[in-house]
Amino acid sequence: MTFNDLGLSEPLLRAISKKGYTQPSPIQEKAIPLVLQGKDVLASAQTGTGKTAGFTLPMLDILSEKSKHGRPVRGLVLTPTRELAAQVQENVREYSTYVDINSAVIFGGVSAKPQISSLRRGVDILVATPGRLLDLHGQGFLSLKNIEILVLDEADRMLDMGFLRDIKRILALMPDRRQNLLFSATFSKEIKQLAGSFLYKPVLVEAEPENSTAEKVVQRAIRVDNTRKSDLLIKLISDGNWSQVLVFTRTKHGANRLTQKMEKRGISASAIHGNKSQGARTKALAGFKKGAIRILVATDIAARGLDIPLLPHVINFELPNVPEDYVHRIGRTGRAGASGEAISLIGEDELEYLRGIEKLLGEKLGMSQQSGFEATLEERPPKKQGGGRGRSNHSRSKDNGGSRSNKNKYRGNR
Ligand code: AMP
Repeated sequence: MTFNDLGLSEPLLRAISKKGYTQPSPIQEKAIPLVLQGKDVLASAQTGTGKTAGFTLPMLDILSEKSKHGRPVRGLVLTPTRELAAQVQENVREYSTYVDINSAVIFGGVSAKPQISSLRRGVDILVATPGRLLDLHGQGFLSLKNIEILVLDEADRMLDMGFLRDIKRILALMPDRRQNLLFSATFSKEIKQLAGSFLYKPVLVEAEPENSTAEKVVQRAIRVDNTRKSDLLIKLISDGNWSQVLVFTRTKHGANRLTQKMEKRGISASAIHGNKSQGARTKALAGFKKGAIRILVATDIAARGLDIPLLPHVINFELPNVPEDYVHRIGRTGRAGASGEAISLIGEDELEYLRGIEKLLGEKLGMSQQSGFEATLEERPPKKQGGGRGRSNHSRSKDNGGSRSNKNKYRGNR
């Protein structure tokens, strides 16, 4: 199938070809015709599947057919994080090169002034995080009374971040008659409830597991003592001669500590987490993208929705205590048809987290040990913030072998 078969208008096909895409991704193939038909869509897709173009292209197509005097906001995309909001708007801007659509992005943590100025100029499509949207709405800088299409992007993360009440307040500000699209990587009871509360006869769309990029992610788990993780990480990076690695930690402090350690060892690194200013995060990401920084150390929330194309290596320096975050993390690799590798370093207090993740995935990750870094510490339960250092001579048996992710199974277990 080609983009020409999806029913998109010529100016959008031109923008797609300018972007260099030749074939729609599975989620685009399924979602675009449905959105063009005006249907509400409930889509299961994580970052890396091409979901952004999946909702942006048909939204642009529909809204560019007619314009409204004064350009009130007619399309609204809600995202959980500032970074994702910025990226989505960048996509909207690129795809709207040949149509008469204005877009803008608003999020917290930066001055509202330029955002207010762009709202005053008139905005057809607004991309926003919930807090700043409500803030500027409360101050009378925008109205949601003309919304025709609403997109909730990464809805699961929005709920994780406690945005449910804000979302409900925002929904109440919009007209009842509108088209709704909900994108989520996971489908919890809460997501289903939210979907049921505002989607009208939604069509369920899933990215084909066979074709999905996440299928190509090879997952490995290496059992290692916590105190030796940094050394092992350095070995993996230098043995593999990796030039760009995304490393996940559980905490902001952990991210800072690891970044400092890497820097001390002469490996350029930057941390990206919630305590960093927006400017610092943008700078770190830009440095990483252009290859000036070799290692980007991120916490789960900061990394959500980051657009880092063709990332071959993701390291879980610490496992997340929320199993769903693992799925989001490994979605950062194996993109755009390239294969990727996700390696988890499993400390003595993380085996419980590993079991939680394996239960969610419906498969064992297969644990190996790295020669020279064999684990010496016995399993102990996780502590809230790292902690204890129980020592023993017990060593875990070797059980080598990687594992391929299987989104299908994963979904089956939801
Ligand atoms: P997303 O899942 O929307 O974050 O997109 C993931 C990456 O895939 C982004 O870098 C997009 O620019 C890219 N992408 C989206 N659609 C396509 C396509 N049809 N062909 C190739 N790359 C794409």
